[in-house]
Amino acid sequence: MALKSHSPGPAELIAGAKSFSSLRHAVQKCRGCDIWQRATQAVFGEGSENSEVMLVGEQPGNKEDLAGQPFVGPAGTLLDQALAEAGIRREKVYVTNVVKHFNSTQRGKLRIHKKPNSEEIGACHPWLEAEISRIRPKVIVCLGATAAKALIGRDFLVTRDRGRLIKSNLAPILTATIHPASILRTPDDNDRHAEMAQFVSDLRKIAAELPSSALISRPSHHSRAGAY
Ligand code: SF4
Repeated sequence: MALKSHSPGPAELIAGAKSFSSLRHAVQKCRGCDIWQRATQAVFGEGSENSEVMLVGEQPGNKEDLAGQPFVGPAGTLLDQALAEAGIRREKVYVTNVVKHFNSTQRGKLRIHKKPNSEEIGACHPWLEAEISRIRPKVIVCLGATAAKALIGRDFLVTRDRGRLIKSNLAPILTATIHPASILRTPDDNDRHAEMAQFVSDLRKIAAELPSSALISRPSHHSRAGAY
């Protein structure tokens, strides 16, 4: 089924944005799919235009939707911790999502996360393309299956292929790992610590590809057990 035409959509808004910061304002007007109707605001990516690394998640969550910033909830805290353990300077990382509005269903007073469908992901893709083309990161890291399928392809399985470094026309290195939210959802303590260690290990592979300017001078190799 073809996606209904919604206006204004990403193409015309991006064409009218003369600077990177104007993209951030333009996305608030986007009506490219129906998700905006259930969200508080669009959540554009955050970080320096000179970032070496771009991390791409699925969509903003409830906290991000309210704050207007990506990765500010518990998963974002865990991500910051993993980046530090991997020796990657947080200020060299740009974080964003495949879909810019929080997609949810209402259950009583709660808004429950709803996975965006392929039409919604496709409708929102020009915003991500605009971020990639203007930042031109050295490494793009897909966090979770939605981002991996959107940027690498449907055959890429995060469980099987995580940490594999791929050459791409999007960036010199494209790779994927799990979304930090999945670590938080792991109920067993030992399993959760093992997931965190593997996540940090995936990020260390990326750190090895980065210039020293993107690295913490003395990376911590000590996992902070009990902190997640
Ligand atoms: S989710 Fe993306 S395409 Fe849909 S309205 Fe929001 S910004 Fe536009």
